[in-house]
Amino acid sequence: MKCGKPLEGMADREYCESCRKRPHDFDRGRALFRYDDCMRASIAAFKYHGRREYGKFYAREMAKSFYALASRWQPEALIPIPLHPSRKRKRGYNQAELVARELGRWWGVPVDTGILRRGKKTLPQKQLNERQRRENLKTAFHISADSVKYKTVILIDDIYTTGSTMDAAARRLREKGVRKVYFLCISIGSGR
Ligand SMILES: [Zn+2]
Repeated sequence: MKCGKPLEGMADREYCESCRKRPHDFDRGRALFRYDDCMRASIAAFKYHGRREYGKFYAREMAKSFYALASRWQPEALIPIPLHPSRKRKRGYNQAELVARELGRWWGVPVDTGILRRGKKTLPQKQLNERQRRENLKTAFHISADSVKYKTVILIDDIYTTGSTMDAAARRLREKGVRKVYFLCISIGSGR
């Protein structure tokens, strides 16, 4: 009901283990695909091997699958999770931004890539445990304005694992006056 993780064999439960243990700073979110071996390969190709065109496919599927949901949420902007500028330079693009731009085009919702900025360079999250992830993300984001004009936004990213990235970004946005922070991802790990 919160992060949208599939709950294997526990369909009667409303929240996954991690959402029950710890309140999140975002309101709610959903992802398109389960992060399995197939999606691991697909997203790796999209992020690290230049397959930008995958973004169009993911976004089209997200646009269809989450149209009703996003109509209810009524976002004023889609905000891709930013990459650190040096990482973006190295990779040539921000995969979350490619998806957000396509999605924004399908839905006619503006995409804001200026308001949420990356702070100090963080370690790649996948090498860290959950506590280290939160510590790593404390100064990961900042807001490039005194206040944010949006009341409702959707954060866009490729993978949702523990939610610590979404929480860190949502916290910064809330501090500047955003009331509802949702997320949409391409892929999500399964919950217990
Ligand atoms: Zn959850």
